[in-house]
Amino acid sequence: MVNRQILFLLFFLPFIGISQSEDEKQLKEIYTTSLTNGESYNWLSYLSNQIGGRLSGSFNAEQAVNYTKAELDSLGLDRVWLQPVMVPKWTRGIKEFSYLENAPGETTNLDICALGGSVATPSGGLKANVIEVKGIEELEALGEEKIKGKIVFFNRPMQADLIQTFEAYGGCVDQRYSGAAEAAKYGAVGVMVRSMNLRLDNYPHTGSMSYGDLPVEKRIPAAAISTNGAEMLSTVLALNKDVKLYFRQTCKVFPDVQSYNVIGEIKGSEFPNEIITVGGHLDSWDLGDGSHDDGAGCVQSMEVLRMLKETGYKPKRTIRVVLFMNEENGLRGATKYAEVAKEKGEHHVFALESDAGGFTPRGFSFDCDEANFAQITSWKSLFKPYLIHYFEQGGSGADVGPLKGNGTVLAGLRPDSQRYFDHHHAENDTFEHVNKRELELGAATMASLVYLIDKYGTVQASNIKG
Ligand SMILES: [Zn+2]
Repeated sequence: MVNRQILFLLFFLPFIGISQSEDEKQLKEIYTTSLTNGESYNWLSYLSNQIGGRLSGSFNAEQAVNYTKAELDSLGLDRVWLQPVMVPKWTRGIKEFSYLENAPGETTNLDICALGGSVATPSGGLKANVIEVKGIEELEALGEEKIKGKIVFFNRPMQADLIQTFEAYGGCVDQRYSGAAEAAKYGAVGVMVRSMNLRLDNYPHTGSMSYGDLPVEKRIPAAAISTNGAEMLSTVLALNKDVKLYFRQTCKVFPDVQSYNVIGEIKGSEFPNEIITVGGHLDSWDLGDGSHDDGAGCVQSMEVLRMLKETGYKPKRTIRVVLFMNEENGLRGATKYAEVAKEKGEHHVFALESDAGGFTPRGFSFDCDEANFAQITSWKSLFKPYLIHYFEQGGSGADVGPLKGNGTVLAGLRPDSQRYFDHHHAENDTFEHVNKRELELGAATMASLVYLIDKYGTVQASNIKG
């Protein structure tokens, strides 16, 4: 099968070459439109500054649905609709409070925040001794004897020598996601997790956590502590094992609520049944305004459709923008979208996601077969003037993930990731940290790839059409 596809490509590629100058012109027009006549930054300003953090099930999330639907309506697309999906509703409650107590009356405040999905502490807070670990694997060796009645402090930092910061994140995030469930098995009363942040600062970073199948009565509260706070706590613990940590949080889970994915599309002129999607997630954490994660990805995706129209391009295939709800704490929107697509027998040929921040784009990562990857990398030179060079296989994005299968080519925009985790899921993920030009370059890079995929099709799709 793969060999046939490669053979096909060998015939096909020379023809792609003929119209390269047309492609060069179209990319130039896309980048110029984005940088001189773009809408993405204005949209992001509204989402971030007028609406703010958009946690699933919140009033703000509802406002974001209405706002983006109205904006898509105004673009004159062929169809704009809301796709209903039930989402979890977790609320943070009043601001968390924490201190460490070196000796009775000698306290130092710490910057913490509840992890998404965590239970509250008792109403008067929780005070206990602390045991520091570098990871879940240490718990078993310590055993119940050393853990029972204590707060487990997970303090494995993100690995600084990894150039791909998402890899460093992946190497640490198990502490946040499963730390509480694992520590509870050994009788811990609470969990404090070092924030997933490569730099030292005072912002605690939230994020989703899960108790797995732990019964409700066994669940213990879990919070993130800023990296500065984690360093201090670790230093104090080294000097005084008897130091006590206090924290209080009032978060709560409510029944699921109705929400929506926001979808808009331009119908394809030649192959309307071949669908290309581009998207980001509309929900965000509640601490900042969710500008990088993932307001940026949403407005860039909306901009892809707007720019294709603006530049007078008539897509051959159906191009759809999907603003997914509930990526952060449930992935319900993405799951629902893929479910409905399957029910309707929709043929998704390509799905692109932007969910790595609104920073300078470097390229894309792809989840596809060799034949498609070969076709895509044959377009690399078209991106060279825009300093887009990163075309690698491996990984796409959480929201397009459920569309995997049936030859769908999945991709993720890969911006520079060095500053992403300074802001990720924290109070400082705000509008002023998004650079207008960087955001616009990202939108143009996505639109360029969507244009090329639309024009030439994916290898499988071209094969079917003969
Ligand atoms: Zn995200």
